[in-house]
Amino acid sequence: MLTDTPGIHHVTAMVGDAQANLDFLVGTLGLRLVKRTVNHEDVLRYHLYYGNGAGDLGTVYTCFPYPNEPPGRRGKPQLTATSFAVPEGSLDYWRDRLADRGVDAERVSRFDESALRFEDPAGTRLELVAADQSVAPWAGGPVPDRHAVRGIHGVTALPTNPFATASVLDTLGFEYAGEDGDRVRYRAGGDRATVVDLLDREAPYAREGVGSVHHVAVRVPDRDQLREWHDLFRERDVDVSRIRDRHYYHALYVREPGGILIELSTEGPGFTIDEDPATAGESLVLPPWAEEDREMIEGQLPSLALPAAAAGRGDDDG
Ligand code: ZN
Repeated sequence: MLTDTPGIHHVTAMVGDAQANLDFLVGTLGLRLVKRTVNHEDVLRYHLYYGNGAGDLGTVYTCFPYPNEPPGRRGKPQLTATSFAVPEGSLDYWRDRLADRGVDAERVSRFDESALRFEDPAGTRLELVAADQSVAPWAGGPVPDRHAVRGIHGVTALPTNPFATASVLDTLGFEYAGEDGDRVRYRAGGDRATVVDLLDREAPYAREGVGSVHHVAVRVPDRDQLREWHDLFRERDVDVSRIRDRHYYHALYVREPGGILIELSTEGPGFTIDEDPATAGESLVLPPWAEEDREMIEGQLPSLALPAAAAGRGDDDG
């Protein structure tokens, strides 16, 4: 039997330069690089996974670097922002930290939350929301624990048809949680990464490119349920892919009628199946079927250097 999703599994964005992406997400936002692998659809490109120290589900934000692609255009249908949770009371710290690194952040509020909105080097819109979330922060990161990111808070979507998107969210187990202006909130029942906000507003057509969020993935317990979801969406004439083996999880992709790409991903086998968690992200991991081409793949990918782990951690007085 199908069960409601507890929330978001991961969010995936298309970015430009891989090193700039790594420097920003690790060095500035203090996420840990938890997996350095390649895009399964194009093994000559990186797929970088970021998260808390353990890469727990609901903390994972992944990026496809496409250094030579043109920038995307915001519009609909599209996921327009990814928000991360930070502890209540830490937004002043974050505004200063971002400003010190030349990033302008705008203070916004909605529902009963305060947030900072800014862009990463690729132009991807990110937010830090003051919302206590029971996620262990990355203990080895550059941001003091009491301010560090507590995983994903949620995403904002701008669908062509918010009612259609809402209906699919409802099917997956998200519940209507209120409206604020043209923003309608849906929430899953888990303890983290539970928010999907739908915007109902005029916008030009989106174009996918550097700076676009590619998809949001929600958690499904296992492959049996993935098969059931597949059949359910097909019965309803919703555009659904076959089930794919993504090595760390199995997944299917739903282009819901409001135009947003939603992935359904299993909770296992998880990111630790091919790597010691202590050294995760330090070297390139390939899916088993690409291992025979390792030398060629490594020769094509730009080298990446992790930012110094503790740089900036000393300023724990702000
Ligand atoms: Zn995905």
